[in-house]
Amino acid sequence: RPGGNPQIDPALMEAHLKATGGQVVTRFPPEPNGFLHIGHAKAINVNFGYAKAHGGVCYLRYDDTNPEAEEERYFTSILEAVKWLGFTPYTVTYSSDNFQRLYELAVELIRRDKAYVCHCTGEEIKAHRGGDAKGPRSDCVHRARPVAESLAEFQKMKDGRYGEGEAVLRMKMNMQDGNPQFWDLVAYRVLNTPHHRTGSTWCIYPTYDYTHCLCDSFENITHSLCTTEFRQSRESYYWLCDALGVYKPVQWEYGRLNVTNTVLSKRKLLQLVNAGLVSGWDDPRLYTLPALRRRGIPPQAINNFVREVGITTSNTTIEVERLDNQTRAYLDEHAPRLMAVVKPLRITLTNLPEDFSESLTVPFKPRTPAMGEHTVPFTRELYIDASDFRLEDSPDYFRLARGKSVGLLHVPHPITCEDVELDAAGEPVHLLCRYENGPDVPKPKAYVQWVAHNPAHGSPVPIQELRVYDRLFRHNNPLDKSEVPEGWLSDVDVDSLHRLTGALVEVGVWDAVRRWTAAMADPVVERAHVENLRFQFVRIGYFAVDKDSVLPPSETVASGDSAACTAAGQLVFNRIVTLRESNKK
Ligand code: ATP
Ligand code: MG
Ligand code: MG
Repeated sequence: RPGGNPQIDPALMEAHLKATGGQVVTRFPPEPNGFLHIGHAKAINVNFGYAKAHGGVCYLRYDDTNPEAEEERYFTSILEAVKWLGFTPYTVTYSSDNFQRLYELAVELIRRDKAYVCHCTGEEIKAHRGGDAKGPRSDCVHRARPVAESLAEFQKMKDGRYGEGEAVLRMKMNMQDGNPQFWDLVAYRVLNTPHHRTGSTWCIYPTYDYTHCLCDSFENITHSLCTTEFRQSRESYYWLCDALGVYKPVQWEYGRLNVTNTVLSKRKLLQLVNAGLVSGWDDPRLYTLPALRRRGIPPQAINNFVREVGITTSNTTIEVERLDNQTRAYLDEHAPRLMAVVKPLRITLTNLPEDFSESLTVPFKPRTPAMGEHTVPFTRELYIDASDFRLEDSPDYFRLARGKSVGLLHVPHPITCEDVELDAAGEPVHLLCRYENGPDVPKPKAYVQWVAHNPAHGSPVPIQELRVYDRLFRHNNPLDKSEVPEGWLSDVDVDSLHRLTGALVEVGVWDAVRRWTAAMADPVVERAHVENLRFQFVRIGYFAVDKDSVLPPSETVASGDSAACTAAGQLVFNRIVTLRESNKK
């Protein structure tokens, strides 16, 4: 252990071991003043992971001692995010549950002459600590006041007889120690803010420095795991436990995790939201856990990413591409593969009878029977992706053009384009093709995906909008002035969200119905529920349903009436990640 283990009082250790049965006990202690981000995913993995690896347990403790910054939605979102990552808190606790006990220990600390009420202003306290110039340090006049006087003053603080800033309780540590964490830290301050859970019961609130180690002690935490900026706090953490003679956990530090091309701090995220540069805290271009979830990033990919990066004491900024790679690797294994076509282009196979229909059995993943299979209707009318047809042919183009053949994925024979109908603007809207089921079948050089329309076998599902995301920040490290001299906000790529909505498509049997649609997909997509399902759209990318989708009422889904479903619903898909590392868009 870095820095050596603290001195342990045998009697306290015995009581501790009795309480825990010798089990490892850790805690993840977020302050409920914002949404969790990818860095917190590391903290969650470290705490829950360490406990799990040693057959122990991990608490989720809301460190809610700062009522000014805390909101109900953060409490809810934090627990959801922890569960989403696949971890189950042993118990959910709140630092505020201990307000009475913490108060009593503060009184005890004064009695032991290890704390005093101080009336210095913030400026004065700073000056006594040597000021900005790191000059000589000195005790303030209040430090030497009698215990009885501090007890009476602390009572007055609690009774609301001091305004904010007029009095604080400070720990009597060592102003001459080289470690700033010993310069008589503040334990309690006056705050006339009602608390989310305790209402207006208290007008004094304990600080992080005072609360954190004592709550760890109360919960019999064995390993207090925290990030390296708390290294200097380790000694003051031990000091307070010893000063009160309570059980003392061991503190270990690990490095903070950051990723490139983003910012994580709450204050900066708030600026982005307020400036309208993102749609909210869960904008899929952000790296908050709600944003990653909304985008469709699987929680397993986040955990794999965190584990791959590893646990060291150095703070690291990891290329965001490594998260993409983990996402791709996970989705490649687990996401069902479906055919979908962007900007659907209608095809009629003119040599097939009007009522021609075959059911093709298509696996959700080739050579992976465990993923299952489903049937896909193959009919006379179908759609391909507009990008798989060219009016201007060239010898190095292997997909569809006038007079050319192409294979349709999963279909036994290729098709050949015989004629093209153009709209008024000269754009192709309908291809007349031959299904090559005769004796001289040309061997296709390429295969393309397609969807068929036949109401008896389920209609293809119109997708109203596809959203494709680039990095929100152009530079690896937008906060680095040498990379971005104009400041991080200027680094935002305002064109990083691409919304693909609407080619005007005539939807097969609803000849009269013309609707705006960005894409058409395999009918299986209709089973997609917001955030639950992620797909590989073959040859296009990995996609997940966005929460902006309006899902059809469940009765229409149950009835299997696709026309009614899609008429009532509006599907919006996010591209989670590209199929391969190289294709950036
Ligand atoms: P932020 O200001 O970014 O929200 P924080 O340190 O205030 O971070 P808390 O809500 O207090 O965050 O964090 C809960 C736990 O998560 C703490 O133990 C903290 O050290 C840890 N943590 C926060 N950010 C990171 C990070 N980037 N990497 C690893 N652990 C982190
Ligand atoms: Mg925080
Ligand atoms: Mg914090």
